[in-house]
Amino acid sequence: MTQPERQQFHEMLLAKQTVLQDRMARRDDLEVQVSPDEFDARLQLVDREFQSGLLHQTALDLRQVRSALQRMDNDSYGVCGECDEPISIARLKVIPWANYCIKCQEQVELEKLQESSVDQTAELVSGSD
Ligand SMILES: [Zn+2]
Repeated sequence: MTQPERQQFHEMLLAKQTVLQDRMARRDDLEVQVSPDEFDARLQLVDREFQSGLLHQTALDLRQVRSALQRMDNDSYGVCGECDEPISIARLKVIPWANYCIKCQEQVELEKLQESSVDQTAELVSGSD
């Protein structure tokens, strides 16, 4: 990775961090206003649930962006956290906070899928007990 590329990713990460921090800071606006109209109140509740899902995702994204900025500080940015191979520039241009190369990312997602199906099986087993 060249210095200008690195600089570019650093700016992208900082910009993303600002956007995410703003979104987190505005979470107080999401408080449900008490409405005398029940239908309205229900709509607001649905909206709130939707928003809290977004907030959760925002918190996760922010953690990834901050960890990428840390990796930039200690010079491990752009290197796969799993196999130590460089992450391709094309991939970083799409996801500047990527922590894994494309191969390892697929592996991680596959393992996550397998874990969640194991969880479901465990639930089924305990449920039938
Ligand atoms: Zn890798």
